This record gives sequence, structure tokens and C-alpha cells, in this order.
Amino acid sequence: MPQTSEMICVTCPKGCVMQVKHEGEHVLEVLDGCKRGEDYAICELQDPRRMVASTVRVTGGLHPLVPVYTRKAFPKPLIPQLAQKLREVEVPAPVTINQVVLQNALGTGIDIIASRDMPKSH
Ligand code: SF4
Repeated sequence: MPQTSEMICVTCPKGCVMQVKHEGEHVLEVLDGCKRGEDYAICELQDPRRMVASTVRVTGGLHPLVPVYTRKAFPKPLIPQLAQKLREVEVPAPVTINQVVLQNALGTGIDIIASRDMPKSH
């Protein structure tokens, strides 16, 4: 049974409010959005993903934590598991920006990388 859902596209700063007609995960029609918005709607229904920012522990660093983020948008249903996993990660200082702190997180092929340097404590 087709239904229509309102969806805000976050692909660009315009933030269009789209009307998405779909049957389950299958998109039938997207109103008030461009082609990229249609792709976003399909992805949201079939494989929703989000960029994730968090922190991991650093041993011997100037600060005890370093901010990290997912190199690519991460599957939304796995985000709670990722948060749990990141609580277990500990990297030795020094940490450099863009350093991989967790490779292939949860088998997704997506690396978690540091978003800033963390020098050793003196
Ligand atoms: S539908 Fe197109 S124009 Fe609107 S926010 Fe998405 S990408 Fe931008």
C-alpha cells in the first residue's frame, strides 16, 4: 500500500522539504526535490547513513580524549554499536590528524579517523 512521507533533504544547504511517495522501501515518486534529493530519499528508505563524530581515549596524550569521525557516512542502525565500540578504543599519543584509529569499523569498510592532532604530554 503506497504511502507519502515528508522528508527533509540534507544533501545541500537548501534543505528542501520533499514529499516522498513510497511502498515500503521502494520509492515511487519524489515531489519538491531535485535528482540528488531523490537519491537521498532512496538511500534514507533503503540504507540510511549518517556521519558520526565522537571521541576515543588517548594514552600519554596532552588530553585524555581525541575527537574522531567516520570517514564516510555510517549505516544508521549500527551507530549505537559503533558508539559502544569507540568506548573500547584507546590509542597511544602522539595522534595525528586523519590518523586511522579504528579500521573497518564493525566490518563496514569504513575507517574512523582522528579530526585533530594530539601530542604527547610533557
Ligand atoms: S532536493 Fe536538491 S536542492 Fe533540495 S536540498 Fe536536496 S540536493 Fe539540495
